[in-house]
Amino acid sequence: MNFEELGLCPEVMEGIRQHGFTTMTDVQEKVIPVALRGKDVMVQSKTGSGKTLVFLTAIFEKHVKNNGSRAIVIAPTRELADQIEHDAISFSKGLKDYTIGCFYGGVGYEKQSADLRKGVNLVVGTPGRLLDFSKSGKLDFSSFDTVVLDEADRMFDMGFYPDIQEMFRKMRKNEDRQTMLFSATLSVKVRNLAWAYMDEPEEFDIQPEEITVKNITQELFHVTKDEKFGLLLSIFNKIDPKSCIIFTNTKDRAVEVSERLNLNGYKTAYLMGDMAQSVRLKTLDMLKKGKITALVATDVAARGLQIDDLELVVNYDIPEDYENYVHRIGRTARAGKSGKAITLACEEYIYGLEAIETFIQMKIPVLWADEVGLDPVEDKSAGYRMKRRRSSSSSDQRRGRQPEKGRRPESSSSSRRKPSKPAESNADTTKGQTPDRNRKNRSGAKRTDSSRKTEPKQMSRNVLEKEIAGKNVHKVNLSSIPAETGKKGLLARIRSFFKREK
Ligand code: ADP
Ligand code: MG
Repeated sequence: MNFEELGLCPEVMEGIRQHGFTTMTDVQEKVIPVALRGKDVMVQSKTGSGKTLVFLTAIFEKHVKNNGSRAIVIAPTRELADQIEHDAISFSKGLKDYTIGCFYGGVGYEKQSADLRKGVNLVVGTPGRLLDFSKSGKLDFSSFDTVVLDEADRMFDMGFYPDIQEMFRKMRKNEDRQTMLFSATLSVKVRNLAWAYMDEPEEFDIQPEEITVKNITQELFHVTKDEKFGLLLSIFNKIDPKSCIIFTNTKDRAVEVSERLNLNGYKTAYLMGDMAQSVRLKTLDMLKKGKITALVATDVAARGLQIDDLELVVNYDIPEDYENYVHRIGRTARAGKSGKAITLACEEYIYGLEAIETFIQMKIPVLWADEVGLDPVEDKSAGYRMKRRRSSSSSDQRRGRQPEKGRRPESSSSSRRKPSKPAESNADTTKGQTPDRNRKNRSGAKRTDSSRKTEPKQMSRNVLEKEIAGKNVHKVNLSSIPAETGKKGLLARIRSFFKREK
């Protein structure tokens, strides 16, 4: 369902339109219509599901229709209060003379106090500071006709239960205000509070959309980190996807993959978490309109963007968080359609595979480039060096999101790089030619540096098989490593395993 169908005032619609949001998330679709009717709502929904816009829409709409309406949003932490204020400011751009104040402890008492004196339409704050202002007579809880309790369960975990009760006792009667409560779980405490201070709330339990991987063709290639990009090129050459998203684990890798694909004649763009939402949406739009064929993104960058109906999802890096595997590949094959997800498993991230396969309760079928007709392709970006760019995740951090990881130190992959068989070294780089692994080097020429650059992109099968097949590296080794070994340790163990096997 689209926001347009809600019949919102143009002033309220304006902010949503400016953000480029068209389709509502599940929680928005279910709860906004009820909240717009003025009913109390009690909502259980996962983080990241779009709850902020649920209450902001209801608050703004009430303000426009019924001038003079005042609202208060109570949040557990300063960061969350900041984030809500930030969203409120940017979504209220279409409202005339709408003022918002943010109130929390530790900073700016005088400024906050002055803001309150001037009067604000929307108060956002944490319990302690709000109660302080109320005790000193600067804030009147009974002046609000709309009250939002965000992340209620966290509020209780942090010991704010008595404060919340105190605030509610100072508010208008339950039936004289609209109360909206949001929580990741509806615990007994949350329900008690709702029973005492809400007026017959309508309850919503929004379960995350179940993504089934059933209709998705999943494939996995074992490949060394150094040969990954070449394999990606071969895949692109064969499939020639119309719409694709490539996931990487770091921002730098996303930039690199996108720029190198561009050098090879593909039209792609990258997404970063610290890009403004409007820029991210514009970039996404280019994919939807077919102006680019692929987007390269990290999980953080793709969050909050409606990207689905893709022909192909490539996990350039195996995600470190197994749930992200399902989120990533679920971007294809929506609504019962079938899609394809290709995963490149390299030595750097292979340790994440076991958890993924346990989670999806299946083994991802392993393919070999030469067996499925993936021909080596000349890499026009060989020798690519990424320009140093200024990248910061400050805006993500400010907004309380998990910052993306920086670039990991390069692994000493040279030490474990396998020499390819001579037959492959004088690569058949021309498109359309099938490499014959058993064939003698046709020209008989010695390998030159330039031919090195265009070697077949996947390790020769038997070398790789010797390394992993049968023994199933990730299984065998992971289970023999103590659970408390950190990721670094795990990686080191896997690397040393590879070395031993050499
Ligand atoms: P929650 O409060 O449930 O954790 P948020 O309200 O903070 O989630 O929203 C999470 C992210 O999703 C934000 O980046 C927000 O801008 C984005 N978002 C919310 N609603 C939509 C929508 N309808 N379309 C696209 N993105 C949305
Ligand atoms: Mg929230």
